[in-house]
Amino acid sequence: MNLKEAKAITGGLSNPGKMPGFAYNLPTWACITGTKLRDVEGSTCSGCYAHERGRYRFPNVKEALNRRLNSLTDPRWIKAMTLLVSHYSVKVPFFRWHDAGDIQSVDHLKKIFEVCDATQQVEHWIPTRESKFLPLPGSSIPKNLKIALSDHMNDQKTPPSWWPHTSGVSTDPDSVTCPASTQGNQCKNCRKCWDKSVKRVIYPKH
Ligand code: SF4
Repeated sequence: MNLKEAKAITGGLSNPGKMPGFAYNLPTWACITGTKLRDVEGSTCSGCYAHERGRYRFPNVKEALNRRLNSLTDPRWIKAMTLLVSHYSVKVPFFRWHDAGDIQSVDHLKKIFEVCDATQQVEHWIPTRESKFLPLPGSSIPKNLKIALSDHMNDQKTPPSWWPHTSGVSTDPDSVTCPASTQGNQCKNCRKCWDKSVKRVIYPKH
């Protein structure tokens, strides 16, 4: 398999300007929990940037997102994603899953685990609201993967206690721990989202 074939199979990677490395996304209209939360005032999915704003509205982008979604059942997906992640993470070995979209099933998460296991030179981070698909903490999770369970509501005071890594969204600038907004909306040298010693990250509400 070559890169061209891997891109055709998976729909390719994304390259968010904020992040240090490459990423991968799925359509937000396929978010299972996110679709319910989008209509809830004060939820972290209300006013979702990926669903309602920016380049994600363009037909060619939507088409690419649908291709990625449909490719999840392709038996070549793990091999193709492994090739892409390996190739595009050589210079910056930090990969983000789902800069838009979310985990679709336990089987989908297991496939992501296989890609992580096959790319141990890369640190992976996946934020998710799909707690029902997560394994028991500590079991069968690749060592190079940080799974951050995202809060459902803005300014949530109590994060889920059963999962070791969480993230929240705050309307109070003093509570925000993500430094991106103070450094040109760039991660720069910050790697909190991949760093397992950081148990909770708070982002500003956009
Ligand atoms: S906490 Fe750090 S790594 Fe995470 S998004 Fe913000 S700047 Fe980037």
